[in-house]
Amino acid sequence: MNRPVLWIIIPCYNEQEVLPVTAPMFGDKLRSLIGSGRVDDSSRILFVNDGSRDSTWEIICRLADTDPHYIGISQSRNRGHQNALVAGMMEAKDSCDITITIDCDGQDDLSAMDDMVDAYLDGCEIVYGVRSDRGTDTWFKRSTAQGYYKILEALGAEVVYNHADYRLVSARVIKEFENFKEVNLYLRGMFPLVGFKSTSVYYSRQERLAGESHYPLRKMLALAFDGITSLSIKPIHLITGLGGIVALISFMGVLWSIIAHILGRTVAGWASMTSIICFLGGIQLLSLGVIGEYVGKTYMETKQRPRFIISDRTWDASKDSPGQNTDAQKAKKE
Ligand code: UDP
Ligand code: MG
Repeated sequence: MNRPVLWIIIPCYNEQEVLPVTAPMFGDKLRSLIGSGRVDDSSRILFVNDGSRDSTWEIICRLADTDPHYIGISQSRNRGHQNALVAGMMEAKDSCDITITIDCDGQDDLSAMDDMVDAYLDGCEIVYGVRSDRGTDTWFKRSTAQGYYKILEALGAEVVYNHADYRLVSARVIKEFENFKEVNLYLRGMFPLVGFKSTSVYYSRQERLAGESHYPLRKMLALAFDGITSLSIKPIHLITGLGGIVALISFMGVLWSIIAHILGRTVAGWASMTSIICFLGGIQLLSLGVIGEYVGKTYMETKQRPRFIISDRTWDASKDSPGQNTDAQKAKKE
């Protein structure tokens, strides 16, 4: 079997502080993967600049000038981590055999890549990087994350526990994934739906090496909500069920009031009236809200807007492809 061509896909958003630290680490890792004979020399490290406002793109261009293994694309504006990953995978799928997506902040253990590639060589098409512990997380993040996975499971969504976006995916899987046209992206829940043979490798996650997290509580909640609404329509069923139960109880209440009226015991209770009205009002608003969320998502999906737009590349796409001009190929030519 030929050695597979690997593209490591790294989304970067305002990462000028951490990129100069981690880029050489990624470079060393790729060289060691090539050196150990696991992957081909035409493998690449693809940085996806997600519309950074700092000098991230300049750093990427400089890296691309110094070493042909480094390449980069730039999105025309900030579109979010998940879209940046899709942009990278779509760019990679025709030039490589496998991709590994990883954050650029050095939190994920690079040595897990050896196990990932080995698992691919053993026949797995998707390899999930799974955190073996959450020791570096705050208590709050740890407990909310674990509660969230439980909720997703209860809603019938298939997700790999404690897996984020550190993942090996073969080009074959990406080509199938391309047919998932949705814009409401929650990649870690979508790849299990694509299928194919998969496995997990375990690693422990470190603190960010420099710079700050771009996932404040607001973005984390948005991603969590995207996860639920993109993977499950059970909340709508739950509301229908709840509506049914409430309707039944109200119906019994109506019967009760008619009987009470016939028996002449109609000293109307103000408290019970108000509480019933409030209760029903509350349930209705809640239901409308959840249904509205899905209607909103449907609206966004029907627009079919592009999920990413690439404005620049570190190579001239009309002339050459980034899989060329490696040392091995140069040697072959000579
Ligand atoms: N990121 C991105 N676009 C964004 C936000 C983040 O491409 O709008 C990238 C970021 O550069 C990093 C990865 O996504 O490589 C994960 O972000 P971060 O480390 O800030 O999140 P955390 O690890 O704190 O969840
Ligand atoms: Mg991080």
